Amino acid sequence: MSNDTAAESIEEIQRTGVIIVGGGISGLFLGMLLERLELSYHIFERATEVRPLGSALTLGANIQPAFEQLGLLEQLKAISLPCPSLELYSDNLEHIGSLNLEKRKEISGYDDLIFERSKLYSLLRSQIPDSKISYGKRVTRLEEKDGQVFIHCADGFVCQGDMLAGADGAYSNVRQSLYEQLEEKGLLPKIDTEDFVIGNIVMVGVAQPLNPEKYPQLNDTKAHFSSVQGKNKQILALISAPGQRVCWSIGTGLSEAEAKEKRFKNSEWGPEANELMIKEFEDHPSPWGGTFGDFIRMTPPHLVSRVSLEEKIFQTWFHGRTVLIGDACHKMLTGAGLGICMNLKTLNIPHHKQLYKPTYSPTFFLHNAKVR
Ligand SMILES: Cc1cc2nc3c(=O)[nH]c(=O)nc-3n(C[C@H](O)[C@H](O)[C@H](O)COP(=O)(O)OP(=O)(O)OC[C@H]3O[C@@H](n4cnc5c(N)ncnc54)[C@H](O)[C@@H]3O)c2cc1C
Repeated sequence: MSNDTAAESIEEIQRTGVIIVGGGISGLFLGMLLERLELSYHIFERATEVRPLGSALTLGANIQPAFEQLGLLEQLKAISLPCPSLELYSDNLEHIGSLNLEKRKEISGYDDLIFERSKLYSLLRSQIPDSKISYGKRVTRLEEKDGQVFIHCADGFVCQGDMLAGADGAYSNVRQSLYEQLEEKGLLPKIDTEDFVIGNIVMVGVAQPLNPEKYPQLNDTKAHFSSVQGKNKQILALISAPGQRVCWSIGTGLSEAEAKEKRFKNSEWGPEANELMIKEFEDHPSPWGGTFGDFIRMTPPHLVSRVSLEEKIFQTWFHGRTVLIGDACHKMLTGAGLGICMNLKTLNIPHHKQLYKPTYSPTFFLHNAKVR
């Protein structure tokens, strides 16, 4: 797919078929499906630049057939390593168990593939023409009138569409705007007004290429995935990725009270808070030798990110001409690739244009919601 098309003029993107808010993995995947179906859509992303953030993601047998149908499985494999097992260690690095994933391949025919989040992002992004995505567009609210949906951006830009897909992540503005309107009409279930269920606080990154003589795991054609169950609900992990890279994550499980405090402090998350968390974990010995700090300090600080804190599956996924997809309606904790598999499965809609109504009715999302 060529990306060199000139960006559409403002007038051209003021009116589209499907408005997609959020250019993360879910928004790009939906955009790619609509692109294949030759349906009109436009993606609005609030970030002004794309940074290769995140650590490792994993995709299993439940979503790889979709990549196969789209002709992208070989490209996905090229950025991945198959993961045969997950090795578990105690705080003092005693090997406490192994989760054999190869059995799953015997049943499904598909390896569990592990790759850097940024590499999947680039693969999906390469399927979307530049003219179909606008950056620096933070959507603040939506409205529906006369059978059309409108998004309003912080810079005053307004776009009109037949349908709106909110793919703007766990703290989705589309969801907030939709829910406010539903609450006013008395249509929002109480459960959707409640806080996220508490999970953990996680920091992730990918170290610059490392020396395989020091870390022989990096010579292997299969991924090495080691998880350490530390003291005080700490979890630390190392995962090898193509190109002698090591994806790492450090995190702590939180009680409800701790999470409330962190949620408050989260708004101030920045380099100083990052450094405090790194100091807490960096001296922890690593099962691959040395300490976790050896991997963390090999990661450019601006590419270190916080991934998730909370978990919740919302009940209301659509109303009128608006649907929520991905983390915007079901934020899962990051372990075992749950979040991403679920996100892409939501979108694994029948890949056939005839199944869509000409006015982009959200009923196909309803079908998928019911299936799950
Ligand atoms: C930086 C980052 C790093 C991650 N790293 C990992 C990881 O290492 N391991 C793991 O398992 N999972 C990780 N995740 C989570 C994982 O990517 C998601 O669970 C999954 O890919 C589904 O994401 P999504 O597209 O639904 O939401 P997100 O990935 O959160 O994407 C939402 C997109 O919407 C944009 N957006 C938000 N608000 C607005 C708005 N108002 N207007 C316009 N655009 C908006 C955001 O900038 C973002 O690009 C990460 C997510 C992020 C954002």
